[in-house]
Amino acid sequence: MTDTTTSVEDAVHLLPQTSYLRALHTIVRDRHAKRDDFVLNAGRIIRKLIEAGLELLPFEPYDVQTPVGRTYHGLRVGPQICGVAVARAGESMEAELRALAPDVRIGKILIQRDTVTKLPHLYYAKLPLDIARRHVLLLDPMLATGGTALAAIEVLLGEGVPEEHIVFINVLSAPEGIAAVRERYPSVRMVTSSIEERLNENAYMLPGIGDFGDRFFGTDLVS
Ligand code: URA
Repeated sequence: MTDTTTSVEDAVHLLPQTSYLRALHTIVRDRHAKRDDFVLNAGRIIRKLIEAGLELLPFEPYDVQTPVGRTYHGLRVGPQICGVAVARAGESMEAELRALAPDVRIGKILIQRDTVTKLPHLYYAKLPLDIARRHVLLLDPMLATGGTALAAIEVLLGEGVPEEHIVFINVLSAPEGIAAVRERYPSVRMVTSSIEERLNENAYMLPGIGDFGDRFFGTDLVS
């Protein structure tokens, strides 16, 4: 039997903490950021994350002729990828994935915590029919406790997606969430732009960004 367990360095891809990335984080973490600045700059971070995620997936050879009559032996994103957005916040990541891979198929999962049992409950899933043969970019900007992440990964595995074909993309990750995913699904790879200090008593990340979905979709605004 092959050991598919991945070391933590291979499993967790933290984007290079460049000055530009920190400047983008400074805009989106600012509690006074206007919604359009939040959306624009969160999108810029998400684009970098998805580019990094695509680097972990298969490419296929693709030759082109250059304007000066030579062949460039290139590559293109393999056809066997797809995105799966965890609604609602993960839907904020779809546009950047489409921009980078226009033909990509995108599935959707809605998981919410049951108010009585407090356990994550799957309300809806619509996934590509052939998802078992695909590599999946699983999209959710916030990895906090990991409860939703584990439930979403379970759905993908239930559809036959191999664990090592899942790349989980987050803007912010809490150490608690990373540990939960690593413990249960050691072959799932994660791409994040920040590993936060910890969660507060309400399961928000610190220093954090607040409620990503509300800030992106403007549902925390009263006019
Ligand atoms: N979800 C969010 O939107 N923000 C957090 O900090 C944690 C979960």
